[in-house]
Amino acid sequence: MLLTITTTHLPATDLGHLLRKNPDRAQTFETTFGKVHVFYPEKTAEICTAALLLDVDPVGLVRNRRGPAGEGRTLEQYVNDRPYVASSFLSVAIADVFGSALAGKSKERPELVETPIPLTVKISVLPCRGGEQFLRRLFEPLGYEVSVIGYPLDGKFSEWGQSPYFTVTLSATLPLRTLLTHVYVLVPVLDNDKHYWVGDDEVAKLLRHGEGWLASHPEREIITRRYLKHRRDLVEEALARLVDEGQPTPDREEEVHAQEEAQLEKPISLNEQRLGAVMAALKESGGRRVLDLGCGEGRLLREMLKEKQFEEIVGIDVSYRALEIAQKRLHFDRMPPKQKERIKFLHGSLIYRDKRLSGYDDAVVVEVIEHLDPPRLSAFERVIFEFAQPATVILTTPNAEYNVKWETLPAGKFRHRDHRFEWTREQFQSWANEIAERFEYDVRFVPIGAVDDVVGPPTQMSIFTKRSAGTSVSVVLR
Ligand code: SAH
Repeated sequence: MLLTITTTHLPATDLGHLLRKNPDRAQTFETTFGKVHVFYPEKTAEICTAALLLDVDPVGLVRNRRGPAGEGRTLEQYVNDRPYVASSFLSVAIADVFGSALAGKSKERPELVETPIPLTVKISVLPCRGGEQFLRRLFEPLGYEVSVIGYPLDGKFSEWGQSPYFTVTLSATLPLRTLLTHVYVLVPVLDNDKHYWVGDDEVAKLLRHGEGWLASHPEREIITRRYLKHRRDLVEEALARLVDEGQPTPDREEEVHAQEEAQLEKPISLNEQRLGAVMAALKESGGRRVLDLGCGEGRLLREMLKEKQFEEIVGIDVSYRALEIAQKRLHFDRMPPKQKERIKFLHGSLIYRDKRLSGYDDAVVVEVIEHLDPPRLSAFERVIFEFAQPATVILTTPNAEYNVKWETLPAGKFRHRDHRFEWTREQFQSWANEIAERFEYDVRFVPIGAVDDVVGPPTQMSIFTKRSAGTSVSVVLR
């Protein structure tokens, strides 16, 4: 992991005085997580760059119990992203190695400590759980010009999407000390990884390093929450004290209501919220004959059976075993004849044209498309939208952006082992819009679950409705 700080302030070599590290000498410092090297790749009177290279030792991390916990996944202790990314270790290194610069002390150039000078800092690489947009929301309000290079997860498999890693360059004219406090606080906020220090003195550290900028930062709440690892007691204390700095008091009542709501939502699992959202969409469409495509173990089928609106309910799955479990759970063999008549189980795959699927009002496809291999997706699209052609199609899939919020989910992993892909909101919506255009449906999108202001909802839903022949120009033209 490499951080460089460059200035064109004249004479540029004053940077050495501010950092209290001699530009002519490379130095190495030992820490509990590995070695920190400081050197100057360029040092002329016009331009000077100081480099801080973190050589994190994964074995040392395990020994000192500073790295990822290895329970059940012993290799992860040794093989992880920590050596390559800017994390809380960088903040620790800055405090250790550039401690006096961070505190605003300079023996030789005291007058420069508070002087704004042109500075550019480059970090290779910064894990940003929340994407480029979030990165900009943190640094741009502080006056930085931000430039970002993103990387695909794997160059060979573009469908895997982008990694959460970025090379980030930030430029501004400000005192070096201020820049160091920004990096110190915001790097761990961007990383948001689980395993780093949070002690009671972290509130004091946050307030000290955030002095003069955090209280007025538009994202001060999320910065505080993430910096303090969501420890509610500490977050509340820090926010209360930040407000004391003379900032407008947030509406206390609204805050309390939001907390109550969060508490309320907690016991309702995402699964239940998804079922509820799908049922609401089905009721709104008013359909009576409904297909549950990829019905799995029949959770939605059970809900539909309870509603009189649905006269014919069909569950289809490629897994015979799932269908057996669904029948068992619904006590299909012991169902009264009237109920039994309403429900049918079909064994079949959604990537083959199937006459049995034609002529229904609604089709729901809940958490299924992400199980299809991407090359099979186009077959699925035609099977449903071109041949089966239900009047309404209700489809849900995970929002990949939200994955950063599941603390136990390692970056870049899918929520479920069987998932072949997971889409961001933009990927899902552009796919759905394209389908709608091609097969003459209208489409709208509904978030499911608590919507995060940065990464959106945990689950995304699209509702397609077939355009009637009269309103569809292309049908008229045919
Ligand atoms: N809709 C259910 C199950 C989701 S899990 C629920 O929300 O609980 C995904 C389901 O899709 C699994 O049951 C799996 O067997 C099924 N599935 C995967 N590929 C399929 C295919 N090609 N055709 C039909 N079903 C498929």
